[in-house]
Amino acid sequence: SPFPLLRAITRTSSVTGTPMKTPHVSLRVSSLRVSSSRTLSVVTAAASREGEARSTPHNPPRICIVGGGFGGLYTALRLDGLSWPAPTSSSTSQQRTTSSALSKANITLVDAGDRFVFKPLMYELLTGEAKRDEVAPLFADLLDGTDVNFARASVTGVTMEPDDGGIVHLDDETSIPFDYLVVALGNKPRTEMVPGARSSCLTFSSLEDVDASIEALDLARAAKATPRVAVVGGGVGGAELAAAIATRDGNAFDVTLLCRDPTGVMPTSPSQLRDHVSGVLRRLDVTVRAGASVTSVAGDGEVTLSFGGEADDETYDVVFWCAGQEPATTPVSSLVDGDNSLPVGGAGAPPLEVNPTLQATAHPRVFAIGDIAQVASDGRGGGGGGFAESRTAQVAFQQSDYVA
Ligand SMILES: Cc1cc2nc3c(=O)[nH]c(=O)nc-3n(C[C@H](O)[C@H](O)[C@H](O)COP(=O)(O)OP(=O)(O)OC[C@H]3O[C@@H](n4cnc5c(N)ncnc54)[C@H](O)[C@@H]3O)c2cc1C
Repeated sequence: SPFPLLRAITRTSSVTGTPMKTPHVSLRVSSLRVSSSRTLSVVTAAASREGEARSTPHNPPRICIVGGGFGGLYTALRLDGLSWPAPTSSSTSQQRTTSSALSKANITLVDAGDRFVFKPLMYELLTGEAKRDEVAPLFADLLDGTDVNFARASVTGVTMEPDDGGIVHLDDETSIPFDYLVVALGNKPRTEMVPGARSSCLTFSSLEDVDASIEALDLARAAKATPRVAVVGGGVGGAELAAAIATRDGNAFDVTLLCRDPTGVMPTSPSQLRDHVSGVLRRLDVTVRAGASVTSVAGDGEVTLSFGGEADDETYDVVFWCAGQEPATTPVSSLVDGDNSLPVGGAGAPPLEVNPTLQATAHPRVFAIGDIAQVASDGRGGGGGGFAESRTAQVAFQQSDYVA
């Protein structure tokens, strides 16, 4: 990586100082164990019809985890690895119980994709330094040997039942009843801020984004010896991406990093880190335009900037949008306000507020972790409780341990 210092910092646990392991190191990989979401919903639907008023969970309890990223995948694995009481004759079938000795939970992990994506390594996939299976191993392989069920589907909504569990709705029109829900749907790029950002820019947040980026860069290279590439957004993500593109194909791209802040890259980071990153970008011939605020992007790569109050138009062959992230669901705050539904999708959503135990304040059987979660600071949830606000893999990873 062009950012050894930055990578060392971001890949090291902020609490323990322990470097994070890549999934192929930390998880066992062998043969296949996946069930379709349709099978799952058939199995669990019968249980959901057992009664209306539910104050105790089923035995075994049904835990549904939506989102199989750092937070969700590791929650499933932690839960699976816990020491559960052996099933008794009275708890071998799906039934309610008042006993505290719950059998091993029925754990279901739902994700829209079939691969876990180790996002910090996506840049290495772009530069060709890492292989697809290393960066994004199949859930089927990662979950083999566990009792975790996997459903590949997009979550379209969640219906809550007061003081109880609820139902996760999927885009294949099946549903998964649960006693406990862990929401770990992560973030998505925020592209509604500026006209054209969504329709005319590439983003870099998912495996599909990496594929689209490689295709666009290859096409640009085929058309021109030195294509011009703009990366909008001077945060860590924009700086990393600009550096990765600058090193791709033997420095074949003319890369410009457009930073809104007049002081340049990563304005909220410590000065030592900023100096280091600025030095790396200089060595890679990345042009850093500090104080360049993008006001619109057109389909032909024309970027309109406000630069020191003056409007300016520049044309690029490829434009990346790395200026902001937002939660993957909306309006997640409805859970906190006591509504009984959790629609998924849309733009401009606030994060899901949770109390310091990571439970949604109005639904104690709903937990949220990772990028999508924010600990309430207005007193409803008991204050910030000292939780990190940063949206990082380490935070999601550590929260998975805690929530399990
Ligand atoms: C390019 C890049 C580089 C990064 N580098 C670093 C780094 O070096 N260090 C660091 O600490 N952090 C880094 N991060 C941030 C880190 O990856 C995130 O903070 C972390 O992944 C958050 O984990 P999560 O579980 O909340 O969400 P994610 O890991 O994003 O997982 C969310 C999952 O939910 C699924 N999903 C979303 N919506 C739906 C739906 N409707 N239905 C079903 N499934 C859905 C997605 O498919 C995804 O698998 C980076 C992020 C990016 C994008």
